[in-house]
Amino acid sequence: MNADLVIVGAGLYGLTIAQQAVEHTGATVELLDIRDHIGGNAYSYFDEETGAEIHRYGAHLFHTSNRRVWDYVNRFTDFTKYVHRVYATHQGEVFPLPINLGTINQFFHAHYTPAEAEALVAKQAGELAGTDPENLNDQGISLIGRPLYEAFIKNYTAKQWQTDPSELPASIIKRLPVRFNYDNRYFKDTWEGLPTDGYTAWFERMIADERIHVHLSTDFFDASQPWNKKALVGKVPVIYTGPVDRYFDYSLGELQWRTVDFKERRYDEGDHFGCPVMNFPDADVPYTRAIEFKNFNPERRGRQNAEKTVVWEEYSRFAQRGDEPYYPINTAEDRKLYNDYKKLAESEPEVFFGGRLGTYAYYDMHQVINSALTSFEKRILPILRKNPYTNDLV
Ligand code: FAD
Ligand code: UDP
Repeated sequence: MNADLVIVGAGLYGLTIAQQAVEHTGATVELLDIRDHIGGNAYSYFDEETGAEIHRYGAHLFHTSNRRVWDYVNRFTDFTKYVHRVYATHQGEVFPLPINLGTINQFFHAHYTPAEAEALVAKQAGELAGTDPENLNDQGISLIGRPLYEAFIKNYTAKQWQTDPSELPASIIKRLPVRFNYDNRYFKDTWEGLPTDGYTAWFERMIADERIHVHLSTDFFDASQPWNKKALVGKVPVIYTGPVDRYFDYSLGELQWRTVDFKERRYDEGDHFGCPVMNFPDADVPYTRAIEFKNFNPERRGRQNAEKTVVWEEYSRFAQRGDEPYYPINTAEDRKLYNDYKKLAESEPEVFFGGRLGTYAYYDMHQVINSALTSFEKRILPILRKNPYTNDLV
């Protein structure tokens, strides 16, 4: 076997390590993925009928304040001027999110100034003054007051987590933004945008090097194919970005995840919502939000179908084995279990666990790239430099 490095998972973590390995050491990299495409959860494809770029595993918006990451990603793609904004339909009316002065004035049919709105919310939030909110319900009320909490947060959260908010940790909405001005930009990062030619074109450019060999539809645990765990571990450095509990055959138990089911709807109209993301915080709508992909890319209007559009509704639920694991549930029990797996992982010979599945963490794309760049520099580079198979060292 002639590989210098085997990478399990062609998501952003694996792609970044592959790109860095070739660039800095000239290593030969075998990059596998069980799916039939690269890009992991950030993969997208173009819908033939509408021309929309569909984010296959849920809407992905790139944003970062990290200069190193921004410079790195810009080597492989330009970004559009897209700025993320979200709206919510509540009892037949559309409101801007995150909760801001526009939301507050529309909700209370008022024309409060910033100071008046702040005083009103403080008064309404005062019902739990002096207590330390222990659950999401109390946290929500003490941040924004009961009326706004019940309209925009309570039922949305219950749908998303399939759990009553009074049984969820307050930490989920610790950073719930409330703005006493009309700024309804969703992210506060320095840079944001969408890849001009789409996510997949960006990812293809990252690994456009003949020393990176991609093996799709290839399961690392399938011993009938050559790039498998039994054949490789201990013989060649492995970067593993699949689920950490799966690597150890679930021997200590299973980590819990939430998954999302997507229901596609097609409409014979050019624009259905007039925006890319519409949240549905009411209990009588079974989905949490709907994504109208065409509206992420208004700059492609000329190449899109002006008469048709496609929308994906999102239904959230607990993941079973075999479902796509999307959001770590992260109960105290999960944290303990993960720490036990982490100890096992640390004793695997030259296997490096990374990415969101390998470390049981929710990461945004920019965080995964940053973590891969750092881990490559600190942990992988020294090993590749002394690997006997690598001829072309820096
Ligand atoms: P992944 O992308 O999950 O890649 C891991 C890869 O490993 C997968 O392709 C998988 O098929 C492969 N694999 C697993 N097991 C095996 C095996 N046995 N053999 C071979 N291959 C295997 N981030 C943002 O910055 N902005 C957003 O708006 C955003 N929205 C999101 C929305 C949703 C619904 C979700 C779930 C995530 C979102 N993210 C967003 C986060 C983003 O998806 C992740 O940060 C990023 O994709 C993680 O990359 P990764 O390489 O760690 O993992
Ligand atoms: N949330 C809410 N109403 C909304 C949007 C978000 O109650 O309209 C809450 C909900 O508890 C959710 C959390 O805020 O779990 C984070 O939501 P966000 O959309 O920022 O994150 P994502 O679902 O993309 O992880």
